[in-house]
Order: sequence, then C-alpha cells, then structure tokens
Amino acid sequence: GSESRLQLIHRHIRAFPDFPNTGILFRDICPILKDPAALTAVIDLFEEHVRKNYKQVDLIVGLDARGFLFGPLLAQRLCVGFVLVRKKGKLPGATVSVAYNLEYGKAEAEIQEDAVAPGQKVLIIDDLLATGGTLYAACELMKKQQAEVLGCMVVIELKELNGFERLKPHSVFSLVKY
Ligand code: AMP
Repeated sequence: GSESRLQLIHRHIRAFPDFPNTGILFRDICPILKDPAALTAVIDLFEEHVRKNYKQVDLIVGLDARGFLFGPLLAQRLCVGFVLVRKKGKLPGATVSVAYNLEYGKAEAEIQEDAVAPGQKVLIIDDLLATGGTLYAACELMKKQQAEVLGCMVVIELKELNGFERLKPHSVFSLVKY
C-alpha cells in the first residue's frame, strides 16, 4: 500500500547539516535515484495523484536542476511532454524570464518562448519546497505564457517555511513532509 511506499521513500532521503550554508539542513534525494524501488515508488505516487485529480494534463514543467530528475519520468508515464525551467542563460533561442529572490540575493528563471502554448494545462515539479520562491517564479513564467497551472508537485515539503501559503491559490502535492 501507499504507507510502505512512503516509508521506502523516507528511508532514502538523507539530511546534511550546514550545507550549503550554516543553518541549512540539506535534504539529499540522491539515495532515491540510486534505488530503483524507491524511485519507482516516487513516480508511482505522483502518477496516481495526477490520474486521480486531473482529467487532462498537457505538460510537465520541471525546475532546474533536481526537478529534471523526476519530471521526465512522470511525463513519460502520462504520455505528455516535459519542459525545462532553467537558470538564466542556459537556454538557446528566444526565452521568457522572471526574477525572484533567493535566501541571499536574486536569481532568474527562464523558459523557451515556444515551450508552452496559451491555454495549456501544466503541472510543475521539483524535488523540494522550501520558501516556495522557486516554484512561485515558475508559476509566474507560466502566467506570462498564459498557461494554466494545475498544481505543483514535490518529493519533499519543509512545512515550517510555509511555501504552501506563498503558492496559493495553486495547490502543492508533496510526498514527504518535515
Ligand atoms: P525555495 O525556492 O526556497 O522553495 O527553495 C527550493 C529550491 O531550493 C529547490 O529547488 C530545492 O532543490 C532547493 N532547496 C532549498 N532548501 C533545501 C534544503 N533544505 N535541502 C535541499 N534542497 C533545498
């Protein structure tokens, strides 16, 4: 059942104190990728959530960089395309970008202008929700492209940072909560 799959995923997340900065407890998903059963459990639970909650999904949109690890696997299961939201300067051709705040300083998220068509229904995926700044920027990009954000999906949600609130009215589906 889903209880044991969540336990399996839970066992494959490691915590590293003070990485990359003092005071940050870094949640490392690398062991999930190293374990085929744990990775399958993640994608199965994502797929089940999507099939249960959405009638039509046109695209999975993944965030740089660890959203790229899970997004294409889910997209393939759903038989839909995958689109990359990248850090500024990585994508060729015409792009659309949005600036957002990081813990220290600023960053810019970018997509290719022709990546998403107006009216397309998209789900945005990343490994982890912290403050929600990164996923919020991706939602802004989708708004600029007149796409419809159905919701956001993450493997891990850090509840105390309230990223969930920041992303409203968009929903966030998470597998593991700390
Ligand atoms: P935020 O924009 O604050 O929600 O941060 C989310 C992004 O930063 C995601 O792409 C995560 O991969 C990364 N991130 C933030 N906090 C952590 C953490 N404690 N452990 C691992 N990754 C993190």
